Amino acid sequence: MNFHEYQAKELFAQYGIAVPPGKVANSPDAAVDAAKALGGTQWMVKAQIHAGGRGKSGGVKFCRSFDDVRAAAKGMLGTNMETYQSAGRALPVNLVLVTDATDIARELYLSILVDRDSKAVSFIASKHGGVDIEQVAKDTPEDIHTIVIDFVEGLQPYQCRQLGFAMDLNAKQVNQLTKIMLGLYKLFNEQDLALVELNPLAVLEDGNLAALDGKVNSDDNAEFRHPNLAAMRDLTQEDAAEAAAVKYNLNYVTMDGSIGCMVNGAGLAMATMDVIKLAGGEPANFLDVGGGATKERVTEAFKLILSSDKVRCILVNIFGGIVRCDLIAEGIIAAVKEVGLKIPVVVRLQGTNVDQGRELLANSGLAITPADDLNDAAQKAVAAAKA
Ligand code: GDP
Ligand code: MG
Repeated sequence: MNFHEYQAKELFAQYGIAVPPGKVANSPDAAVDAAKALGGTQWMVKAQIHAGGRGKSGGVKFCRSFDDVRAAAKGMLGTNMETYQSAGRALPVNLVLVTDATDIARELYLSILVDRDSKAVSFIASKHGGVDIEQVAKDTPEDIHTIVIDFVEGLQPYQCRQLGFAMDLNAKQVNQLTKIMLGLYKLFNEQDLALVELNPLAVLEDGNLAALDGKVNSDDNAEFRHPNLAAMRDLTQEDAAEAAAVKYNLNYVTMDGSIGCMVNGAGLAMATMDVIKLAGGEPANFLDVGGGATKERVTEAFKLILSSDKVRCILVNIFGGIVRCDLIAEGIIAAVKEVGLKIPVVVRLQGTNVDQGRELLANSGLAITPADDLNDAAQKAVAAAKA
């Protein structure tokens, strides 16, 4: 799960990582009130969306007066913002963060993540932070420094000093960086995070370090241990179908194709998508209804697939091992009765109670195409989607 910048900064503050003072606002008036409460003479107004790259899309504005603040907030709130990092989606701006806009001398990059290559938690840092970090990684990869943390020893202060010197920091700043990194390492482990990025981590005019932007991504598998993080979830920033799937414990990912897939088991779901592609089609989603699917979950899954207007055909591929085929059939029938069905459905059922399942579907009066095996099902689905 992803977090907003203001939420990331709240977490940073809890772990002793310096951030500029700030307040969120949901209206231009509230933004001006926030600026007044913060005091000072210059502020940043920043759109709160689950994507970086805001600076290049008008989502980060430097303001020198309350009128500037009001105009900036007015320009952002209520709009949908697309950035080069928002994966083609325009995200609603419901909140802006107003912060004290300290002058900065230099922008650094610092992140901590689970690095699959070294199978360890790693820090990545660069003295060339800011909005063009992707370009730095491409043009001058020697300016990107990585340290790998031994998970028994934990982060060592000498490793922090190493990164500090690589970023041309002075002794005082290296001490601050060490404190920031130790705080980040603690935050990362205690909250079961997958990624934290400070870009920029700024050297302020007065020489002190502060996190001016924060991106946090947590490990969904550990969500049950962190009600504080779960409470920060902002569903308005998520794909509507994927957010609905979370509610019903379904493993669902929206894709671009035209064939909706309902499958039990992640492996079988992946294989089904492969076979669809092999047959010349494109899947509209990944969906694993799970081993212990109930009739209600199957109904919700079916509704979820039908909620997309891209879907031209549905392919149901169920192996009844733990879940029973008759129960799947009942779910399909219930869902179709509830939401109506205007597109063809190809069903491949196999396993426990398969005969009852097939009989239920055959007698349901629904236009369902039975298939003998997965290849047959994929070919029929592709043909139906193209018809
Ligand atoms: P992003 O484009 O979504 O990553 O948004 P950022 O928060 O990183 O802002 C983009 C750029 O705006 C930064 O690289 C900074 O140059 C500038 N910026 C952001 N926050 C501040 C701030 O508090 N003070 C100053 N002076 N500049 C800021
Ligand atoms: Mg940034």
